[in-house]
Amino acid sequence: MTAPGGGPRGAVIERENPSRVTELVGTVEVSGPDRVDALVRRADAAQRGWAATGITQRLAALTAGTDAIAERLEPLAEMLARESGKVLADCRGEVGFAVTYLRWVVAHAPAAYAEREIDDAAGRLLRLPRPYGVVAAITPWNAPIILTLLKVAPALAAGNAVVVKPSPLAPLAVSEVLHLLTGALPEGTLAVVHGDAAAGAALVGHPLVRKVAFTGGGATARQVAATAATQTTPVVLELGGNDAAIFLPDADLGAEPMRRLVLASFATSGQVCMAAKRLYVQRSRRDEFVAAYRSAAVEVLRVGDALTPGVSMGPVISAGAAARIERIVAAAVARGATALPLGTVDGGTDLAGGYFVAPTLVLDAPDDAEVVAGEQFGPTVPLLLYDDEEELLARVNADELGLGGSVWSADEERAFALARRVEAGFVFVNTHNRTGLSLRAPFGGVKRSGYGREYAEEGLAEYAQTCVVHAPGPFRPGGAGLPANAYPG
Ligand code: NAD
Repeated sequence: MTAPGGGPRGAVIERENPSRVTELVGTVEVSGPDRVDALVRRADAAQRGWAATGITQRLAALTAGTDAIAERLEPLAEMLARESGKVLADCRGEVGFAVTYLRWVVAHAPAAYAEREIDDAAGRLLRLPRPYGVVAAITPWNAPIILTLLKVAPALAAGNAVVVKPSPLAPLAVSEVLHLLTGALPEGTLAVVHGDAAAGAALVGHPLVRKVAFTGGGATARQVAATAATQTTPVVLELGGNDAAIFLPDADLGAEPMRRLVLASFATSGQVCMAAKRLYVQRSRRDEFVAAYRSAAVEVLRVGDALTPGVSMGPVISAGAAARIERIVAAAVARGATALPLGTVDGGTDLAGGYFVAPTLVLDAPDDAEVVAGEQFGPTVPLLLYDDEEELLARVNADELGLGGSVWSADEERAFALARRVEAGFVFVNTHNRTGLSLRAPFGGVKRSGYGREYAEEGLAEYAQTCVVHAPGPFRPGGAGLPANAYPG
């Protein structure tokens, strides 16, 4: 095969619609090692000029790119729904939130990346937040646009160039978003490569890449960190979670919080890093909780084609993901658990024609069942019972993952006191998942959920290194000096 430009044509990734798997949504061409190398070199060549343009011009370019994305919100959301199986309302929300985040970066970058100078008796100290150079962004499929822009926007604002490798499972809408941004930027400062592990490894291990920002699973993260280590390249790792949602005995089990809770587990078919993945309820409230949860699910959980109005839960991402989730639910049932079906089904959807998995609440699963002890990343959630708070905390914190969690209580002080003791990077109170996010709150994991932060000032700080110019007071003109081997007083 020959590409339109002449040279040999590489392999192609075809992306199907998970709601209707016979429908081809689009294709992207896999980037071989030569292409990855060429784009990284081009980014490296462009980066110094981009950094030298100054933050005002950089932010003006980012704003122009953001405006272009905002104008295309609806077609971008539809493309994302088609390629990922996420319902259209979620996709609109994701693109809209990404635009909001871009504007937040533009507003906050000047302070975050400002040079600071102190000039006093102790000396003259200049702190320079310097970009790294070329940043590699490796991103997953479950929220491809926001998770990519959480890296690209601050990295560009700080003066880095960026090469992105999206997931081959949802490469289309995010590529279009990056194309719109690229149109507002100097040539070479932002590029996209496509493929899976080979393209990702070629990018991460490239000697001209100075920082890697990765979001994805733990097993991939270990490979990424090992590859980056061959060049001593620093990494940010945003990984999976097994978030506990803890209901204290006084928690409100009314319809409104229960609807929020159901969607905290089942939005995006449960394929969200910070979904509520284990529900802990005091034993005495079990029956009341199950009844309230099921009736809330009937109201808010409607399974069907991602583009059908009124549908709130689409399919999962692939046939493999569907089979894996069905297997872990069946394994729990084989050990004495009960899987209660939840919600309703859209009559117009051919469920057999997509990667659909029936949403379930799993009762009486043992703590070491995979649905409890691992990240299920799909539309099922276990309900676990506890007797007292100390025993509950020990079980919650026994998990190796520490991304998020939540505490639900009528008493905010009590909720905060318990939340402080949950080993997680982000604990929500009386909500969970994206309704609990804030642009001013840093997000990221502890333990095996990764390191580094996104959002807030901490998320901006990941993309600049503080460098220093220092004239110590004693050696400035007229200074008294110090003995040659002394430390300052
Ligand atoms: P994944 O780890 O399979 O893939 C992530 C990315 O890494 C993809 O682009 C993939 O092509 C690439 N990749 C694969 N092998 C590579 C290699 N050897 N070198 C470089 N790149 C490589 O993850 P996924 O299935 O796309 O995403 C799901 C996981 O992501 C879940 O565990 C989820 O919890 C997690 N996640 C975390 C956050 C967060 O903010 N903490 C957000 C969303 C998703």
